[in-house]
Amino acid sequence: MEITKLEPEKKQGLVVVLTGNGKGKTTSSMGMVLRAVGHNMRVCVIQFMKGDLYSGEWDGVKLLGDLVDFSSTGKGFCGIQGNPYPHSEHRKNAQDALQLIDQKMSSGRFELMVLDEINNALELKLVDLDQVLNILDKRPEQMHLILTGRDAHPEVIERCDTASRVEEIKHAYRKDIEPQPGIDY
Ligand code: ATP
Ligand code: MG
Repeated sequence: MEITKLEPEKKQGLVVVLTGNGKGKTTSSMGMVLRAVGHNMRVCVIQFMKGDLYSGEWDGVKLLGDLVDFSSTGKGFCGIQGNPYPHSEHRKNAQDALQLIDQKMSSGRFELMVLDEINNALELKLVDLDQVLNILDKRPEQMHLILTGRDAHPEVIERCDTASRVEEIKHAYRKDIEPQPGIDY
C-alpha cells in the first residue's frame, strides 16, 4: 500500500491553546512534539512552574534526539499547599522564562514552540497579559506556538487559531489514587 504524505499548499504557523480542568493538556502538547519530530521539525519546549518535580517527558524528549530543546523552569506550582516559595520568587522564575522564550524565539531555529503551563502562570500573575500578547506578536510567522494550562485568558483564546478545553469527567486523584508514572508524570 502506498502511503500518502500530505503537504499543505500554504505553510503557516498556528497558535494552539490547550486549557480546561481535565487531564491531557501537557500530554497533548507532547503528542504534537512527537508528531513534529516525525516531520523532522525543530522544537522548543519551555515549562513554567515545573522545574522541581521530575516528569517523564524530561528524559522522554532526549530519546527524540537533537530536534527537541527542552527546558523546565520554576519551583513548582505557585499557591499550591505545601509549596514553600513566595509569589515573588515564582514570578522571578517566570520572568526569567520569558527571557528564555525571547531568546529561543528570536534565534529563528524552531518550527514549533510549546509553552507549558503559561496560561496558569498568567492567571497566577507570574507573567502579565501584555507579556504573553507580546510573545504572540513576536512569533515568527512560520513557527507553531502551543500554550497550555488551565484558565487560559480570553484574549489569548481570541488571538489563537485552535483552542481545546479539556473537561474533567473523572480523575483518579478523586479516588485517592496516587499519581502514576507514564500517565500522570
Ligand atoms: P497532563 O500533564 O497529564 O497532560 P494536564 O496538563 O492536563 O495533565 P495539569 O493541570 O497540568 O493537567 O496537571 C498536571 C498533573 O497533575 C497531571 O499529571 C494530572 O493528572 C495531575 N492532576 C490534575 N489535576 C489534579 C488534581 N486536582 N489533583 C491532583 N493531581 C491532578
Ligand atoms: Mg499541564
